[in-house]
Amino acid sequence: MKIFETLSTLNYGELHFARSGDLQAIVAIHSTRLGPSCGGTRIRHYPSEAEAIDHVTRLAQAMSYKAAVARLRHGGGKAVIVAPPDLATYSAERRAELFRAFGRFVDALGGRYITTEDSGTSAADMDVIRTVTKHVVGSSIEKGGSGDPSPFTALGVRRGIEAIAHHLFQRQNLAGLHVVVQGVGNVGAHLARELQKSGARLTITDVDPVRRAAISAEVGAVAVEPDAVLEVPCDILAPCALGGAITEELVPRLRCRAVAGAANNQLRTGAAGRALFARGIFYAPDYAINAGGLINVAEEYAGYDAARARAKTMAIYDTIADIFIRSRKESLPPEAIADRIAEEILAAG
Ligand code: NAD
Repeated sequence: MKIFETLSTLNYGELHFARSGDLQAIVAIHSTRLGPSCGGTRIRHYPSEAEAIDHVTRLAQAMSYKAAVARLRHGGGKAVIVAPPDLATYSAERRAELFRAFGRFVDALGGRYITTEDSGTSAADMDVIRTVTKHVVGSSIEKGGSGDPSPFTALGVRRGIEAIAHHLFQRQNLAGLHVVVQGVGNVGAHLARELQKSGARLTITDVDPVRRAAISAEVGAVAVEPDAVLEVPCDILAPCALGGAITEELVPRLRCRAVAGAANNQLRTGAAGRALFARGIFYAPDYAINAGGLINVAEEYAGYDAARARAKTMAIYDTIADIFIRSRKESLPPEAIADRIAEEILAAG
């Protein structure tokens, strides 16, 4: 793998490696131009070191764009811990030792990287890291952290949907707007509740039938099978499950006028985004609309103030409205507009 070539393509930055005991970890710091870099730590098995490097560098760049568009004084960073082959059999103490070693690595970076939870890690792991470094956010409320970021992510998505309702459908509120939520896990369930309170009409799905039944009963939504959900006629489709839900092949079959959800990397390819744009389906760029969780943890680093975190998350309305207006004016896909806004903010410093 040509590491420096990869870094220069993504306009990096720093890449740090640590090995100590069972720990093999990489921290990618894409940019500290706007402030200390911030992003989650993933723990997973990687088929090769090249794949781990490729993954962490791309994820950190995406965090820079997300923080910039959310107007946070943070750059983008990300960490991966290469999961030891027998991680599933670790005792709680052995896992804690792994995360303490990782925390010391983060501490040695002197605050240029702030970590938080991500796939494979939890608030409990952040609590362990917190015992060896202050450069961690997203630990549990009992330990002085800001807890689960999902309600903030859902609030931001609801605000983005309100901006779309206003600009695309000329509506002052969500009453009667039909939204389809794909995946009612942490964020999707909170989003369904937010939308129900706002009077939207809901269709939901989840691969977990128990969850699907429970959330649909709670919010009075129609529940459909996961396979059918993307083609349900609706105003807005909200992908809140895994990434890559929108493929180029799927776009001609979609029966919505906008795609606006919490999932990361909703567009499987750039071509999928261009196909949406060609069909006149507005796409709310994922990292712009799902920034509520990041806004919340960034507030925690500054000295947590839930009201301020909420106010900044509410402003996602303006971000999505701005992207919508510029996309229409310049005849460019919304994701291209969002990237340009991020690059301009990063370049201005
Ligand atoms: P989660 O695991 O709690 O929820 C995902 C849900 O989707 C689960 O209930 C799962 O059963 C369901 N699901 C999986 N595949 C599905 C499919 N094919 N069809 C229908 N349902 C399916 O995760 P989450 O924390 O709610 O995050 C959801 C998405 O939002 C992820 O892509 C995540 O990266 C992104 N995101 C989350 C946050 C946050 O604050 N949690 C912040 C930003 C982005």
